[in-house]
Amino acid sequence: MKAYILEEMIHPEVKELLPRVEIAVVPVGSCEQHGPNTTYNTDTARAYAFSKQLGERFGEKLLICPPVTYGISTHHMGFAGTITLRPETYIELLKDIAVALHKHGVKRILFINGHGGNTSSLNVVINSLKYSYGIDAYYSGMGFGVFDDAVNPELGWSEKRGHASESETSQCLAICPECVRKDNLQKGEVVENFVIRGKNNPFRYGGIAFQWERDASRNGALGDARKSSKEEGERLNNVALERVSRMIEYILEHY
Ligand SMILES: [Zn+2]
Repeated sequence: MKAYILEEMIHPEVKELLPRVEIAVVPVGSCEQHGPNTTYNTDTARAYAFSKQLGERFGEKLLICPPVTYGISTHHMGFAGTITLRPETYIELLKDIAVALHKHGVKRILFINGHGGNTSSLNVVINSLKYSYGIDAYYSGMGFGVFDDAVNPELGWSEKRGHASESETSQCLAICPECVRKDNLQKGEVVENFVIRGKNNPFRYGGIAFQWERDASRNGALGDARKSSKEEGERLNNVALERVSRMIEYILEHY
């Protein structure tokens, strides 16, 4: 099916389409370092490409909005060039976008999130939209958080993977290959006191505003992006597409 992409349309087309739109999809990403492996727009480009693929599945039921290119990247500020918003700013920004879409008659908003750092703010946003503004809003991941359990174990991928690793880079190779510096792929310099996840995470039952270079990786990457594979990226991306499509179908049916 044809995807309906707002920034590529003209006003008469949008006006005509809007009454049939069931959900406005807003891709959200980050402007954040991904070590030597992929560019600063990695999370934004993945979220936007993935959203367009959802648009191809659902046609005019979805209006694919322009991506939000900045996010919550406080934990990556130790790396030059990363730009973060304060959570307060970010939450208001996303709410403004949702309110504008709602004013144009869109019933529901779905944020497609390419960056884990945005998640806690997205929870605030959807709750605030629902209970303070009466707007139905949802969010979903689209990356390794969604497909990680489906990785082919025979590929021998790193245990500490995710950001700028083989899992994220493989998905980039499949859906936004312009983000990948294929000639420069490097293994993540994961720190000894890796505290951001797993059983040994001392903050497992609490929280910390962690710093990536101290608590995760010195060169900004996890895993080993040299093991990236376009084929596996395509397969995993399809897993994510299926899972997120099921969520959308559920929303369409029940809410
Ligand atoms: Zn990323």
